[in-house]
Order: sequence, then structure tokens, then C-alpha cells
Amino acid sequence: MNEKIIISVKDLVKDYGTFHAVKSISFDVFEGEIFGLLGPNGAGKSTTLEIIETLRQKTSGKIIVDGLDIDSDAASIKKIIGVQLQSSGFYPGLNLIELIKLFAGLYNQPVDPIELLKKVNLEEKAKSKAKELSGGQKQRFSIATTLINKPKIIFLDEPTTGLDPQARRNLWDLIKDIRDNGTTVIITTHYMDEAEQLCDRIAIMDEGKIIKMDSPDKMIDELVATGFERPKQVKAANLEDVFIHLTGHEMRAE
Ligand code: ADP
Ligand code: MG
Repeated sequence: MNEKIIISVKDLVKDYGTFHAVKSISFDVFEGEIFGLLGPNGAGKSTTLEIIETLRQKTSGKIIVDGLDIDSDAASIKKIIGVQLQSSGFYPGLNLIELIKLFAGLYNQPVDPIELLKKVNLEEKAKSKAKELSGGQKQRFSIATTLINKPKIIFLDEPTTGLDPQARRNLWDLIKDIRDNGTTVIITTHYMDEAEQLCDRIAIMDEGKIIKMDSPDKMIDELVATGFERPKQVKAANLEDVFIHLTGHEMRAE
């Protein structure tokens, strides 16, 4: 991975009235990585993401996205990023091809809907309506919509919350594919296992602060180096593995 900084966040502060939601955080995201903001509900993950997406105003701090300053160039930033739309915003009566054409029109972008649906493994659902999709399929479709304007960076806010284990793993594969094709990904999650599996680097957030930032591997090595040991011998597989083994990893039981 190269280490060109594509997003730089410096001393970001967000207050909601007298409540300090984000307390002067700084981090860089490298081009071509999956960067995770990991933390419990209320940590400030979505607030941080939406500020970088130019959808929310910051209180203070400096944000540069691909060389563009958010204070002076928000319109240019919008053109190079892909933001996941809430599936509630999909017109329920339109099929996936029609929805993609609608969004492509909004972005003023030529797009091949079937090609895009293939990328997220939904080509068989091309004629289905959004309301007919399962949870995992809806999430894959909403990730497809982030790719319409061929963005350099996509933002995913808790994309796997509420999905079953197979749908989550499918989504991780999809997100890795997107990264491998050169798109930088910023994702939020409150799942530790997801951050460990998926993210190249993570920032752990709690109560509006970043308390640790590194690759999951390095964080774990560091902990182990302190002499930390798990209290119990961990089995070579967990219940989730059993479930996936029984039901078949290839099967899309979404
Ligand atoms: P996360 O995504 O990590 O769960 P959020 O960024 O959504 O956290 O929220 C961080 C904190 O800011 C929470 O305590 C939340 O209640 C508060 N908050 C979020 N949005 C608003 C808002 N529009 N007005 C007031 N408080 C808000
Ligand atoms: Mg959130």
C-alpha cells in the first residue's frame, strides 16, 4: 500500500449546543486503504463521517480531502466521494435498474446499470424492486449507489449492522473488492471482529476522542507484548464458523 494521504483531519471539533460530540480528533486516511472508525454508539463516528462528507458543519478544525479544503472546496469534494444512501430513500416502486438510472441522472453520470449490479452481485435482481430485497441485498445495492459517480473515496456508516453472518461476510468481500479496485474506503462499525477482518487501519473512538490508531494486527501484537493472555483457551472455531459451515459459505442465504 502506498501512503499518500487522501484525507487529513486535524483538530476536528463538533459541539451540539453545549454537548461536545467530537473533541479535537486528528487522523489521516491513506489512499487505497480501508480505514475504520470503531467505537460504541454515541462515540461520534457518524458525526465525524458526515462532516467529512460535507453533510454536516464542523465547529472547528481543518479537513483536507484529496488536496481540497472542506472550507473552500466542498462542492469539488462532493464530486469525488461516494456516500451511502439510506435504503429508506429508495423509491419502493422502482426496480434496481430504474433506481440506478435515477441516481445516475442526479449525478449527471453515464452508467451501465447491469455492469454496476454485477459488481455487487445483484444482476439477478435487476428487475426486482428495492422493497423486495433482503437486508444484505439492500446493503449491497446501497453500496452500488456509492459507486455511480466513480468516486475516489466511499463512506460507509455501519453497513453491516443487523445483517446475518453470511451477509456480513459477503459484504466484507465486496468492500475488499472495492478497495482492491483502487477506491479508498472509510467505514464505521461497532463490531470488533469486523474491524479486525476488514480494516487496514482503525481509529478507536470513545466519547468523542480517538483513543488509539493503528492496524488491527499491530494493536493486537502490542497487547500481547504486554504479557496479556486470554483467560480461557480459545477454540479454533467459533459458533459463527459452525453456522457458516453448516449452511454453506457459497450459499447466499440473505
Ligand atoms: P456514533 O455514530 O458513534 O453512534 P454520533 O456521531 O451519531 O455517534 O453521535 C455522537 C453524539 O452526538 C451522541 O451522543 C449523539 O446523541 C449526539 N448527537 C448526534 N447528532 C446530534 C444532533 N443533531 N444534535 C444533538 N446531539 C447529537
Ligand atoms: Mg453512527
